[in-house]
Amino acid sequence: MDLVSVEGAGKTYRLGEVEIAALWDINLSVKEGAFACLVGPSGSGKTTLLNLIGCLDQPSSGRVLVTGQDTSRLGRREAAIFRGQNLGFVFQGFNLLPVLTVYENVEYPLLMVKRLPKVQRSEAVARVLEAVGISDQRDKYPDQLSGGQRQRVAVARALVGSPALVLADEPTANLDHATAGMVIALMRQMRDQLGTTFIFSTHDPRIVEQAETLFTLSDGRLVDTKAGLAGGQEVGHA
Ligand code: ADP
Ligand code: MG
Repeated sequence: MDLVSVEGAGKTYRLGEVEIAALWDINLSVKEGAFACLVGPSGSGKTTLLNLIGCLDQPSSGRVLVTGQDTSRLGRREAAIFRGQNLGFVFQGFNLLPVLTVYENVEYPLLMVKRLPKVQRSEAVARVLEAVGISDQRDKYPDQLSGGQRQRVAVARALVGSPALVLADEPTANLDHATAGMVIALMRQMRDQLGTTFIFSTHDPRIVEQAETLFTLSDGRLVDTKAGLAGGQEVGHA
């Protein structure tokens, strides 16, 4: 099944009188369980496209369907609820809260969107900390961790609500090459173990080889769609 379907989506930003077209007529689909990468140079539209798929922004034209639902029609509050129920996010700068421990950072999304009893929360947090291999750091604060460990925590936080889809915008941009490779490998392992679909972006050609599906953007256009070196998924067109 297609988990994500982008149909003729365009995005134009308006800055006063000036219009900047960031995306043109994007058509793509991502199947459930995919491990897909958006690749392209800075300014090619990766963040804009991930924001559309992540219901953080709306297309100026076309539609975006996630889990079969046309998310381009959702209001702000409905979009926030949809994100809380279906999506997880990993950011370039980790975005961990410095005053919270590892455990509390991972627990945080569960406090925000779901009225889960404390016991179930702590089980969910323990499960994802274990899955990403960072249980022994649970009482540390982010500034006591390495960049790679911080991004592991961020991956755990993205997964704690059992989302169908995790979106990661340049999750390795602040990491050295070896650590970057490990973080992408961790996300793939999570896809294998949990069945979570991942879409990440990068402009680093050295890590795209871990993707199974590659979408190449250039100047706001999708210029290439193909199976990545890691193979696996059949590539679909919307
Ligand atoms: P990437 O993530 O690949 O670097 P972006 O999606 O951030 O690319 O940007 C695509 C284009 O849209 C760029 O020309 C950028 O300057 C423009 N852009 C992105 N966000 C905004 C915004 N909020 N307002 C105006 N222009 C923007
Ligand atoms: Mg970007």
